[in-house]
Amino acid sequence: MRTIGLLGGMSWESTQTYYAQINRQVNNRLGGLHSAKIIMVSVDFSEIEQQQITGDWNSAAIMLSDAARQLELAGADCFAICTNTMHEVFEQVSEAVQIPGLHIVDAVGRFAHKQNYHHLGLLGTRFTMERDFFRQRLLAKHNVRVIVPSHEMRSDIHRIIYKELCLGEVRGESRDVFLAAMHELTTQKIDGVILGCTEIGMLIQQSHTRVPILDTTVLHAQALVEFALNQEA
Ligand code: GLU
Repeated sequence: MRTIGLLGGMSWESTQTYYAQINRQVNNRLGGLHSAKIIMVSVDFSEIEQQQITGDWNSAAIMLSDAARQLELAGADCFAICTNTMHEVFEQVSEAVQIPGLHIVDAVGRFAHKQNYHHLGLLGTRFTMERDFFRQRLLAKHNVRVIVPSHEMRSDIHRIIYKELCLGEVRGESRDVFLAAMHELTTQKIDGVILGCTEIGMLIQQSHTRVPILDTTVLHAQALVEFALNQEA
């Protein structure tokens, strides 16, 4: 089994989900007392959030590149950035190390391809919904187009992510906001909705909606497990 390297702490609430998902999936595949080999470097999310707010993506790239080097030195066979938003700096981090990085968008794209999905809604932070790094890769590499909710909905979703979910707060009224955003998206023709923020799964599960959901945390964890167990991957 290969060793998975996690860049965590963004936020730590969703890093726990990654940890649980990866171990559970490895155990489902191998049985017995098997669990995953994982090395993690967990950052102080407050520092990252400041860099996001000021648009200092370069400092964030340097910080995450240092963290990825630590993973490599410690013996990780790959790295994963355990947040959608910070994939903004995925290329710079990849260039800092020899080990491969498993991109969260590719995990989504491969799943979409299997399901024959070509049009998806996208929920996430403002950065993920409005900047290019997510949507362009999904279109260019996987031929999937995304649509995002209205400006007002995007603001509400962004606020709930940082003020509640990243702090571990799960509120029914916030779930209703997300469900309303998903409903708004379904007025256009879509095959499903991407939960494009690693904390949204704390609030929305498939049982809450008939719209197929693609949870990036689960799909990214699956890609990591595939890498760890499949020497060809
Ligand atoms: N975990 C979230 C994401 O997947 C948001 C936190 C962050 O800004 O990294 O985008």
